[in-house]
Amino acid sequence: MNHYPIFLALEGRRTVVFGGTEAAVAKLRLLLKTTSHVNVVTPDPDPRIVRWADEGRLTLHRREQAPGDALCCPIAYAAHEDADEDAAALRMAAADGALVNVVDDLANSQFITPAIVDRDPVVVAIGTEGAAPVLARSIKADLEARLSPVTGLLARAGKTFRKRVETLARGAPRRAFWSDYYTTTGPRAVADGVDPVDALRDLLDEHLIARDAPGHVDLVGAGPGDPELLTLKARKALDRADVVIHDRLVTNDVLELARREALLIDVGKEGFGAATDQQTINELMIRHATQGSYVVRLKSGDPTVFGRLDEEVEALDEAGIGWSVVPGITAASAAVATVGQSLTKRGRNGAVRLMTGHDMKGFAEHDWRALARRGEIAAIYMGKRAARWMQGRLLMHGADGDTPVTVVENASRPDQTVRSASLANLPDALSGIAGPALILFGLAPRAAAQFVRQPQEVAL
Ligand code: SAH
Repeated sequence: MNHYPIFLALEGRRTVVFGGTEAAVAKLRLLLKTTSHVNVVTPDPDPRIVRWADEGRLTLHRREQAPGDALCCPIAYAAHEDADEDAAALRMAAADGALVNVVDDLANSQFITPAIVDRDPVVVAIGTEGAAPVLARSIKADLEARLSPVTGLLARAGKTFRKRVETLARGAPRRAFWSDYYTTTGPRAVADGVDPVDALRDLLDEHLIARDAPGHVDLVGAGPGDPELLTLKARKALDRADVVIHDRLVTNDVLELARREALLIDVGKEGFGAATDQQTINELMIRHATQGSYVVRLKSGDPTVFGRLDEEVEALDEAGIGWSVVPGITAASAAVATVGQSLTKRGRNGAVRLMTGHDMKGFAEHDWRALARRGEIAAIYMGKRAARWMQGRLLMHGADGDTPVTVVENASRPDQTVRSASLANLPDALSGIAGPALILFGLAPRAAAQFVRQPQEVAL
């Protein structure tokens, strides 16, 4: 980082622009938004500069630049659009102790002005050190679209209210109040034509009433791994969480979205290996929620699919702690999306099974005879170890050895792989697979010709 970003306090201070050109006008538009005393030194001002001077918004010195013009100015702009005059301005202003920006001359500038998204007092500055102005513009356009026009209005109202919010305890309760205000209550109030200060007052009352209530647990689906496959609700939950209790299969890319101050607790289970037992997970959720925290219990995929959701919900109910479920994209949905197939298809299968290869008692029993029928489709979770056993069961009940089987490992993640096999060689298709894998029984990847974004595929 060659340029250190700062926000400079300009209230009551002088700023100066040398030159009366179009470039000077552009810089003045920005400076006039500040609370500084703006000065322009030029014998030949653009008519807009004259008008601003007449309106009393800046002081115009109609003369050549001279030593001392930048005295007491933290910053100065050389905007003559003339190399010699700008060089002279730079010399004099620097001697006066100002930091100088020479317009459109990165090499000679002591500071540069970022692209800004202005929701005063909320200001986002974007800089690329001159490397990628087009990128800066596109980031600015993105942010302009994302930051509601009322952001500034809300922030100004919020500022007047800060003292009163001190009645709420520091930390989680205050954060919850402000997050509620900026994301929900505030924008809604403005849309309804309500003064944000009134909305703040009502909201504070609500939070004071809720103050003594225990915390809350959201059981949230983290999806198959790609953070873009999170729901907006999951994203918001992570933004607000005080505590995130997550499984091993939740990816780092998703965990990184958790609020920086959130306490992350890994209760992961490695295959058949050691896991935090259910009792301990329940206790963790209950302990943190009882202390008033907002707890996100983050589970891979969808929490209602092989997610031990009910055990946790029952424990929360017993402890009298409020909870809700935020669904997620389950591995089966991600896997079929990868291979361009449907879980159900008119004329082929009107039902689909979400199955597990093993359960608490070991390899899981299913209705193999029904599944062995032509056209049946199953998404098999946790099927790696049980593959050979399932293969035997299915063949024994009359399934065709040629039935297509697709194994999708690490679905939706950068290291995703797809293996296209048949029931006869299913165990081989699973050899060497280290990541989480979903077995799609009865489905082959869509033919390559029609399937544009071909995943890394191994035919067996
Ligand atoms: N609740 C999760 C499933 C948890 S069980 C969901 O809805 O997806 C764990 C099993 O899910 C793994 O053994 C694997 O079979 C499957 N799985 C989870 N994430 C996966 C991924 N990204 N790719 C392939 N399979 C995945």
